[in-house]
Amino acid sequence: MADCIFCKIVKKEIPSSTVYENKKVLAFLDIYPVNKGHVLIIPKKHYDTLTDIPDELLADVIKATKKIAKSVMKAMRADGFNVGMNNYKAAGQLVPHAHFHIIPRFSNDGLKLWAQGSYQEGEMKPIAESIKKNIA
Ligand code: 5GP
Ligand code: ZN
Repeated sequence: MADCIFCKIVKKEIPSSTVYENKKVLAFLDIYPVNKGHVLIIPKKHYDTLTDIPDELLADVIKATKKIAKSVMKAMRADGFNVGMNNYKAAGQLVPHAHFHIIPRFSNDGLKLWAQGSYQEGEMKPIAESIKKNIA
């Protein structure tokens, strides 16, 4: 997509600190890291969100994510890592070119990524049923 910042990174019109590249996938440092060593993994071809990426390509992207997660752990001497993905604006997706985040984590980094809630009595079952019904 012409005005997509990550497509521009793929075409090298904008520089990036690339850490991994193959025919279909590119990985580079996030310029505003949650923790240092935060990497973004993208399909080189533009798709907006997770559900738009064809299965075969998604397998390549997730395999690269696994490979890079290991190297981020080693390079940053991290104690763990989060893999995250924001899909659509409502979920915090700022760049509409699908991407996974690898965020290195440290035992004492104090980050809290999720605020969790709870269900009322009887609320879980119909929600689970509805999700089940909608699986294509
Ligand atoms: P999102 O909120 O869409 O999941 O995440 C987009 C990420 O892209 C953000 O964490 C942001 O810091 C990163 N980002 C935005 N513009 C650039 C850029 O030009 N170069 C790099 N390397 N990262 C970017
Ligand atoms: Zn794009």
